[in-house]
Amino acid sequence: ADALAGATVALKADDAGSAAPAKKEDFAFQADVNKLMDIIINSLYSKKEVFLRELISNASDALDKIRFMSLTEEGVLGEGETAKLEMKIVADKEAKTLSIIDRGVGMTREDLIQHLGTVAQSGTSSFIEAFSEGADVNLIGQFGVGFYSVYLVADMVTVTSKSNDDEKQWIWESTADSTFSVTEDPAGPTLGRGTQITLHLKEDCLEFLEEERLRGLVKHYSEFINFPIFLYTTKE
Ligand code: ADP
Ligand code: MG
Repeated sequence: ADALAGATVALKADDAGSAAPAKKEDFAFQADVNKLMDIIINSLYSKKEVFLRELISNASDALDKIRFMSLTEEGVLGEGETAKLEMKIVADKEAKTLSIIDRGVGMTREDLIQHLGTVAQSGTSSFIEAFSEGADVNLIGQFGVGFYSVYLVADMVTVTSKSNDDEKQWIWESTADSTFSVTEDPAGPTLGRGTQITLHLKEDCLEFLEEERLRGLVKHYSEFINFPIFLYTTKE
């Protein structure tokens, strides 16, 4: 169902010479979220690839949401856009980054602050408890905190997002050091609508930039995904 192609793409348009630098705001993670992230970033768990399942599932949820909204609301999607409800996975070996980009519903500034850090889901403490009793990290998605599995493989994560409900595009970033920052994207609303999650991979997780490894994982995790997934890897 998914189209897998090899190519090199530029991830972001250059900062188009914006005037004043955007103001960066720092936020503290809610205490349980902080604890959860500590567990994950220090985890010696060997099946680290589950992060990709969680990101694909979140991208798919976001695409489902915008498609559903478009059924009842006029002008939610741009003209002829239904065909573009897709996600891209981009591996950049030089930058050591892996990005997942979707044309889903996106997140407003408030969404980023609430959903990715300050409002704990009931599953947060449940996961911490289950984990301390020996539960498998693999189950993280079932606790509603799958996003944080990115810290199994990344030591810094950047989430850039644009929602129809916010005229600005925002950048969320965290090195899992108990705080995250939110900044208006100086590049402007380049995504149009949707979310780009960029993982700055840990040195021992660079296997996730290899085309064969990625292709296998995407195939495996896209079995029940109803949107096209395009894979872009660097050619040497
Ligand atoms: P869950 O998917 O079970 O809600 P996650 O930890 O995976 O839990 O994600 C937390 C929340 O972050 C989601 O519910 C959603 O609101 C937001 N989110 C994560 N990824 C995306 C994305 N790609 N697009 C839009 N919202 C997202
Ligand atoms: Mg999820």
